[in-house]
Amino acid sequence: MAKQDENLLKKIIAHSKEYGFVFPSSEIYDGLGAVYDYGQNGAQLKINIRQYWWKAMVQHEENIVGIDAAIFMHPTTWKASGHVDAFNDPLIDNKDSKKRYRADNLIEDHIAKIEGKINKEVAKAAKRFGDSFDQAQFVDTNPRVMKYKEQIEGIEARMKAALDSGNLADMKTLIEDEGIVCPISGSRNWTDVRQFNLMFGTEIGSLAEGANKVYLRPETAQGIFVNYLNVQKTGRMKIPFGIAQTGKAFRNEIIARQFIFRMREFEQMEMQFFIKPGEEMAWYEKWKEKRINWHKALGLGEENYRFHDHLNLAHYANAASDIEFNFPMGFKELEGIHSRTDFDLKAHEEHSGKKLRYFDSEEDRSYVPYVIETSIGLDRMFLAVLSASYKEEQLEDGSERVVMSLPAPLAPYKVGVLPLIAKDGLPEKAREIMNELKYETECVYEEKDSIGKRYRRQDAIGTPFCITVDHQTLEDGTVTVRDRDTMAQERISIEALRAILLQKYR
Ligand code: ATP
Repeated sequence: MAKQDENLLKKIIAHSKEYGFVFPSSEIYDGLGAVYDYGQNGAQLKINIRQYWWKAMVQHEENIVGIDAAIFMHPTTWKASGHVDAFNDPLIDNKDSKKRYRADNLIEDHIAKIEGKINKEVAKAAKRFGDSFDQAQFVDTNPRVMKYKEQIEGIEARMKAALDSGNLADMKTLIEDEGIVCPISGSRNWTDVRQFNLMFGTEIGSLAEGANKVYLRPETAQGIFVNYLNVQKTGRMKIPFGIAQTGKAFRNEIIARQFIFRMREFEQMEMQFFIKPGEEMAWYEKWKEKRINWHKALGLGEENYRFHDHLNLAHYANAASDIEFNFPMGFKELEGIHSRTDFDLKAHEEHSGKKLRYFDSEEDRSYVPYVIETSIGLDRMFLAVLSASYKEEQLEDGSERVVMSLPAPLAPYKVGVLPLIAKDGLPEKAREIMNELKYETECVYEEKDSIGKRYRRQDAIGTPFCITVDHQTLEDGTVTVRDRDTMAQERISIEALRAILLQKYR
């Protein structure tokens, strides 16, 4: 991570705490690793992101419905899904720093460093050749770049082989051969690579009754698969159709050093799309396109997204791609789009003894549907939104401000209602306006401190508009509307307010 961006993450963490977005969990007891609480502004931003997703996936898609399955599920669910046997991460410790890493992440970070070297060569050449620079040709022919590319391909092939065969000794040899050092101690003094299951287990029922082992779900998807038939029958759903849900998932993550990017308790927004076998590649491409367009429509910068196709397919997938976002730590997975075949439904058929089929009346046959999944972490989306929105600006008068240029539909508050001063009947008038608007959208009222300070506060929590009520308001029924991003102020009548604001933030 570049120094400057490391600072950005630190600033976002500090800002999130100072302005009530995210707090460390149970902070009075010094917190709990990789667990966080959302504060008054964070909770609302989270609700808005969830709603923005739900509207796109459920409300706007006629053939997708939403459910809300329980966190606890029958333990056999996780045997069938493969999580009991295969939901493992390869972990490795550095004996000097005593820090623990995911072996695959160490190798991926090493690859990212080599990619960085390629980018440097490209930037140097672009500068040297100016307008006549042909990047594609350079990357394909420059001997140094070709050597780096070959090195990356070699590492990726060895990592894939080691992961596919579960050969952890090969993984360690790869780390040693590449001379990968611990980022903390700088040493190559590694332990062996070991497998570590990420599921949290607990017991249901009292011990006297013979308690049963259950797991906190590590993904929400299985709640959808076990309800496939319930929803298909009761909703009279016709293939192709989807089932969506949002909810908590739990993973005992090995490393937990990146704020809300990797948490042990987090929230997912998932959708399983049930299709006819054989049509999965077309639907996979369609969902990749739909999802990337959804992200880009938010306006966080199209250059901040890219696809990363998986080399190491999970046991259930025949194609998989991540939408990566340019986080302060670099491009990292934000959402996964997976072609899950009929793996899950078939596995649940086998373990439950119940048929999970679809009768296709056009083809006059029954089959187990194939599935395309879209899976996004709500907390990661939250971090993406914060990191693209956080800005430090130098103003013309020499002062500075921190502004969160949150997309208006996501902002915790859309409108701040501020009486210029807290007397002369201005608070009463402001409350009147607030009482009108608060049934339309999220509003916040503030009368403490100078108007300048209050504007800065609203900028810092990302409120797109502030309405200021002054003495002129009492005379002619107009108020000032201030735009968060441009800081431009416009005088408009109270009657026109509602229509104008609705048009701006919807
Ligand atoms: P990673 O490789 O980063 O561990 P993953 O490939 O295991 O992620 P999936 O199982 O595909 O992730 O989960 C789908 C989505 O859930 C991810 O794209 C991510 O946004 C989110 N997610 C997964 N694990 C976490 C976590 N520990 N904390 C926050 N979000 C997570």
